Amino acid sequence: MTAALIDGKSIAASIRERIAGDAAAFRQRSGVTPHLAAVLVGDDPASAVYVRNKQRGCEQTGMTGSLHRLSADVSQSQLLELIARLNADPDVHGILVQLPLPRHIDDARILDAVDPLKDVDGFHPTNVGLLSQGRPRFIPCTPHGCQVLLREAGIRTAGAHAVVIGRSDIVGKPMASLLLQKGAGGDATVTVCHSRTRDLAAIVREADIVIAAIGRPHFVTADMIRPGATVIDVGINRLGQVLVGDVEFAEVSKVAGAITPVPGGVGPMTIAMLLGNTLRAARLQTGETLETAG
Ligand code: NAD
Repeated sequence: MTAALIDGKSIAASIRERIAGDAAAFRQRSGVTPHLAAVLVGDDPASAVYVRNKQRGCEQTGMTGSLHRLSADVSQSQLLELIARLNADPDVHGILVQLPLPRHIDDARILDAVDPLKDVDGFHPTNVGLLSQGRPRFIPCTPHGCQVLLREAGIRTAGAHAVVIGRSDIVGKPMASLLLQKGAGGDATVTVCHSRTRDLAAIVREADIVIAAIGRPHFVTADMIRPGATVIDVGINRLGQVLVGDVEFAEVSKVAGAITPVPGGVGPMTIAMLLGNTLRAARLQTGETLETAG
């Protein structure tokens, strides 16, 4: 391996420590404990693990994490009722609806129903619009985590060609939007590749920074990487008992300049960013004036 390893686990740990300190200071001045309410529908084991880790993260940073568990056959209107209750509850500052939802539920209807001031995932159209205009309120956690990893690893984004593979609303699109913004962590020239992109490998080979968010194990191979490029692997794929990313790590790490591992790269950053957004939501709702997210 010649690439520098970008250690998301330790970077996330130090961010969490800082958030715990900020949360304690906030509790002291406001008397309020930030509270994240997670909504989990159905019994998908991976979703249950993600939600549990998020709850645990809240507890470890001095915040409250509550779980609202609903059966897979819950109706859309029952789910909307729960969200309306959480929106109206002054003790709840952040609301997270764990995706994916069962097929009979319209994701967009549910995400649109979350109060934008409590939308710690940053998926509400108002928050997507604010991000797109370069004045984010809540930045979606996974792409934000990728951006912070680049910053912490000392990777310059200004003027760099960043290629994002994947165009989901959760990762690819907001990632592209963040890298495109003016200022620190942005100012990149951004190309977004997706399932209909022609000659994807040739485009990726042009990249100084590659963000892989496809959901296909080992999709990105060494021959697609320009020597010295930075590779951020968002993918989480289960191959038997093993978790692997979207990047063929063993080979790509011989060519890349810097790379994130899976696990221990982007995953821990996602939760750290969510905790940051939860504290931010509590500060917003108690009337504190905030700097722009970032
Ligand atoms: P998604 O399925 O919603 O989107 C995948 C994207 O990849 C699509 O836009 C599609 O166009 C593109 N794609 C699929 N096949 C392709 C192909 N053959 N060529 C080019 N592009 C192709 O997935 P998502 O929610 O964006 O997640 C992507 C991956 O990231 C998944 O493995 C997911 O588990 C992982 N993920 C990780 C975290 C984390 O915290 N680390 C968070 C969210 C998602």
